[in-house]
Amino acid sequence: MLRRFHLEEPESVKDASDLLARYGDSARAYAGGTELLLAMKEGLVHYEHLVNLKKIQGLDRIQHEDNLIRIGALATHRQVAESRLLQEHLPSFVRMEQNVANIRVREVGTIGGNLCFAEPHADPGTLLLVFGAKLVAAKGSSQREIPAQNFFVDAYETALEEDEVLTQIQIPLPAERSGVAYMKFGYLERPSVGVALLLALGEGGSIADIHVAVGCAGPAPKRVEEAEELLRGKSLEEGSLLLPKAGEVAGRAAQAISDLHGSQEYKEHIAQVLLKRTFEQARKQCLQEREG
Ligand SMILES: Cc1cc2nc3c(=O)[nH]c(=O)nc-3n(C[C@H](O)[C@H](O)[C@H](O)COP(=O)(O)OP(=O)(O)OC[C@H]3O[C@@H](n4cnc5c(N)ncnc54)[C@H](O)[C@@H]3O)c2cc1C
Repeated sequence: MLRRFHLEEPESVKDASDLLARYGDSARAYAGGTELLLAMKEGLVHYEHLVNLKKIQGLDRIQHEDNLIRIGALATHRQVAESRLLQEHLPSFVRMEQNVANIRVREVGTIGGNLCFAEPHADPGTLLLVFGAKLVAAKGSSQREIPAQNFFVDAYETALEEDEVLTQIQIPLPAERSGVAYMKFGYLERPSVGVALLLALGEGGSIADIHVAVGCAGPAPKRVEEAEELLRGKSLEEGSLLLPKAGEVAGRAAQAISDLHGSQEYKEHIAQVLLKRTFEQARKQCLQEREG
């Protein structure tokens, strides 16, 4: 049962962050409520004050400026999945969002809430890592940019301070002749393993740059620099031959945990398979000269 709480309804980010600072541990920001209210109903957590962010104008905006996409933290999964602007510039992100949860959760759950809750079995964080995205956090009248790589600290733990509000996700557009793929696997409600890969080809078709990230299997999504180093600078053919090795490295980097989703070894194996498949998908996109 849901215990009583006070609903605060600030109309600016500054007021929201001031309220969070004033009430400290007894308050939490509240967006779609799909995680927070569930946890409160089940009695896992209780907050005397919920700071509703939905009255703040413009926090759900999706914009394109130069080489950057800005997604407001209050944009719902549905808004992201249906955005024409994102479909044109970041189709891989749209595809990932179309497959988050179910239609009811996508309708009210926000991208910001997903990232801030840092539930290990979540999709967007893994893909944001390979884009080299930054997350903008505001506190009072100041703000800072946190690289996605530093944002996810542990299961249910982020780099946000207690009175910081996540306002925006900034995603740099991938270079020309690059491809981006995200694939996940699981048979429960949330994914068991997710792998994201960004591949950029240089002159002569060599791997000019590659970013690999693995998520869901362990406490937090991770960039796998060791796997990237194995593949960077190689020809596509050499890269393909090195994929089993890179997959092994990615599996280990996932820090997979044995749980209801499967054993550690099983998840490591799935990470290896997904790495191979995302590489193939990204390679095809590169050869079509678009991020598709
Ligand atoms: C049945 C089910 C299936 C799901 N399946 C998937 C899945 O397949 N893949 C996947 O990725 N996710 C999945 N999810 C998670 C879903 O994406 C999240 O529940 C949703 O995005 C959370 O957003 P929200 O706005 O509802 O967050 P809320 O519940 O409102 O908030 C969650 C947490 O984030 C904090 N918070 C929210 N917004 C901000 C902000 N702007 N600044 C600071 N703190 C903030 C809150 O204080 C709270 O601690 C699933 C959830 C459910 C219930």
